[in-house]
Amino acid sequence: MNNSYPFELMALPYDYSALEPSISKTTLEFHHDKHHQTYVNNLNAALAEAKEFHGKSLEEILSNLDKLPSDIVTAVTNNGGGVFNHNFYFEALAAPASTAPSAALAEAIVKAFGSVDAFLAEFKKAALAQFGSGWAWLVSDTDGSLKIVKTPNQETPLKSGQKPLLTIDVWEHAYYLDYQNRRPDYIDAFIKVINWDIVSSRFEALK
Ligand code: MN
Repeated sequence: MNNSYPFELMALPYDYSALEPSISKTTLEFHHDKHHQTYVNNLNAALAEAKEFHGKSLEEILSNLDKLPSDIVTAVTNNGGGVFNHNFYFEALAAPASTAPSAALAEAIVKAFGSVDAFLAEFKKAALAQFGSGWAWLVSDTDGSLKIVKTPNQETPLKSGQKPLLTIDVWEHAYYLDYQNRRPDYIDAFIKVINWDIVSSRFEALK
């Protein structure tokens, strides 16, 4: 996948039906093929004239939004964030209950939250508390501690200097076809399809 302009839609690393019954094939088809594709298209359109940013990675652009020409900051925040967040979300999903946190990640989670179950309960609380559209995250903060944060719309934790490890999309388009207004049920189902192998390798990469 190209990590600089022109950006491309990330291929899903599993079949559209791989996450059932937590996330349906139909939801994934719309969410990936339509919503995610639109963020990619709009990001490329926003950056088309900003040639000095064509060699830069998405992470670099999103970590330095203040360096962009002022007329494209909003479009890149919304659509560049949309591309990064969806790549990060889709990449870390797997068939229900097929993976578990590495020993090192589990130890860090226990240190920060008391237990893995206590972490998941707090993560769910944050995902429920995000008013309207947005995301909840597990991040490694600038001091290296694990924290749960929320971001509205398509904002990312990158601009705060935090390193993301896991995210859940709580825009209604992520769950409405399967769960309608029942965000708590979607969050419970999402927790079953977290790809802990990916989250663990992101944690390892921080060292
Ligand atoms: Mn989404």
